[in-house]
Amino acid sequence: MTKVLINEKLVDEQDANVPYNDRGYVFGDGIYEYIRVYDNNVFTAKEHFERLLRSAKEIGLELKYNVDELTELIQELLSTNNIVNGGVYIQVTRGAAPRDHAFPTPSVEANIMAFTKSYDRPYKLLEEGINAITTEDIRWLRCDIKSLNLLGNVLAKEYATKYNAQEAIQHRGDIVTEGSSSNVYAIKNGEIYTHPVNNYILNGITRMVIKSVAEDKGIPFNEEVFTLDFLKNADEIIVSSTSIEVMPVVKLDGENVGDGEVGSITKSLQEGFNRYIDTHS
Ligand SMILES: *Cc1c(COP(=O)(O)O)cnc(C)c1O
Repeated sequence: MTKVLINEKLVDEQDANVPYNDRGYVFGDGIYEYIRVYDNNVFTAKEHFERLLRSAKEIGLELKYNVDELTELIQELLSTNNIVNGGVYIQVTRGAAPRDHAFPTPSVEANIMAFTKSYDRPYKLLEEGINAITTEDIRWLRCDIKSLNLLGNVLAKEYATKYNAQEAIQHRGDIVTEGSSSNVYAIKNGEIYTHPVNNYILNGITRMVIKSVAEDKGIPFNEEVFTLDFLKNADEIIVSSTSIEVMPVVKLDGENVGDGEVGSITKSLQEGFNRYIDTHS
């Protein structure tokens, strides 16, 4: 029987319930992480848990666990569910309390929940690339927090799905920010361009890995804003996240990106990413 982590207990999936007045449910008042497991290894676990603690701090949520304690809780869940290749979703909410926008006083205990999923890497898509569509970024101005409030992201992804694309690339006016659940890179004349880390994007762990791979390979990694027009004229486009890794975009708004094939810089970054997985486990 598959288990779900609810606070410190591993409970059977069908018994895994949370209170009706949990603030995550009522307000989206909470934060989350998604971590990949490769060959029994929880990939970049420390970076993810550190980001979870940062998100918690940014919304004034007190979490009683440190990185080591979180690692242990999640590791136990993964072992119990026998996850060899897959992922683990973790969310923390401000807890259950009578509905009132302001934080509960006295404060209540945060609720932590985690579940696992077993699956392989997206080999076929990584080789062939995906379609993306562009859409206005309508999200709030603290996109650096991995918040449960995902309505803007949900509507963007639904728009992509409706038009046969696998990801929506968002822009605020002229400036490209990021995907609905991924970071975005335009490659032009052998150089990578991606939005700088600030409140307009989520600072992806995969982005950090790509940056390190690019630096190792001597590929210029420019953390600069760029326009929608620049993106449309890019030689190659990549979107990245924990689940889609270094994903080539071969069609944007129905038009070929470059020659419509997965480009050489993309392939080189994918190769470096694979090596990074092998050397960090
Ligand atoms: C999680 C997420 C990403 C990717 O972050 P990773 O740490 O690489 O998984 C990018 N953008 C948004 C909006 C996200 O929620």
